[in-house]
Amino acid sequence: MSNQKISNVYWNNGQISQVDRDNLIGQKGVTIWFTGLSGSGKSTISAALEKELFRRQKLSYRLDGDNIRLGINKDLGFSARDRTENIRRIGEISKLFVDCGIISLSSFISPYRRDRDWVRELHAQSNMGFIEVFVDCSLAVAESRDPKGLYKRARAGEIAYFTGIDDPYEAPSKPEIHLKTDQLTVEQEVEAIIDHLVKNSFIN
Ligand code: ADP
Repeated sequence: MSNQKISNVYWNNGQISQVDRDNLIGQKGVTIWFTGLSGSGKSTISAALEKELFRRQKLSYRLDGDNIRLGINKDLGFSARDRTENIRRIGEISKLFVDCGIISLSSFISPYRRDRDWVRELHAQSNMGFIEVFVDCSLAVAESRDPKGLYKRARAGEIAYFTGIDDPYEAPSKPEIHLKTDQLTVEQEVEAIIDHLVKNSFIN
């Protein structure tokens, strides 16, 4: 994705590892990566999951599309190149959170499979957990929800390169978790993710 511009830089390990930090807070840092169409339910599920994890005294933090675009990624638009850079930066930020021992809840349309696989690989290289959650509903359902009125504006030609309308969405081929949000309740979706976290010993 991005090439290292200089060669004389080395990661500094310090004296405390991710495992030390995991043990300190009693959980295992992991990235939960929500991908799906706008309006599929990524932010809703992520917020409900954060609440349930908090209730269980587990520390998580939400990285959300708009929040990141309002800050560190305010210089990026929606061209294919900018979307890729958007995901690259978020992948790196997510990885830093995991290194802190935190459960990083990353909700981004992230329409390109190649970009998501790059983030997965980034985590794998450091033996970090990466859980891809496909937040799935039909375009028709997402468009009928239209929580931010964006589909309406895209159909009116006010927003270009809108995923699902005039920009592609590549569904994950092997997500760890597949949630059909037009068939499940938010509670069932949260439960499915919690089950996965417990089964894979990220939380107890
Ligand atoms: P995204 O973050 O994917 O753009 P949002 O979470 O902002 O989507 O919006 C999803 C909308 O769909 C919300 O208004 C939410 O209340 C609604 N919704 C209805 N059923 C579900 C469900 N089972 N899971 C998640 N969201 C749902």
